[in-house]
Amino acid sequence: MKNTEAEKNALERMRPGHITAQGFLGTDTRGLADIVEADIEELRRLGVDPDEAAARLELLRDEGQKGLGEPISVGKRWVVSTGDARGMLPCPWNDGLYHKNSIRVQEQDGALVLIYSDLSIHLLKEHRFLQGRGSPFRLEPSILAQLLRDE
Ligand SMILES: [Zn+2]
Repeated sequence: MKNTEAEKNALERMRPGHITAQGFLGTDTRGLADIVEADIEELRRLGVDPDEAAARLELLRDEGQKGLGEPISVGKRWVVSTGDARGMLPCPWNDGLYHKNSIRVQEQDGALVLIYSDLSIHLLKEHRFLQGRGSPFRLEPSILAQLLRDE
């Protein structure tokens, strides 16, 4: 993947204080193309199909929303709670607006597994971008693999 002008602009908008206070890159100092390539490779290694992972995140969100803000069991293994803040967030690539929500997935014993948002799902689906290391909304490939292995 080349560092095109669009990628450079997207990278700029991912920095803290542009779209979100914390930004999308965490403590990652790699270039955007490097982050995306490394994560795609890691997903492949783990046997995770990114579209399947995105569909699972959507399903957990949809089930979690039935709890209306309270934690709700989803399947045998997960407890999901969803929260909505007012407003929308633009994708750093400027191709859409997403609800400023957060979805928390926990194990039944309470251990936190993952926090993500509608924008995280879009970034995975459309841009194969899981966010930088250290970003609070990063979709860690090993965690996506776990979420797909819950039956
Ligand atoms: Zn986008």
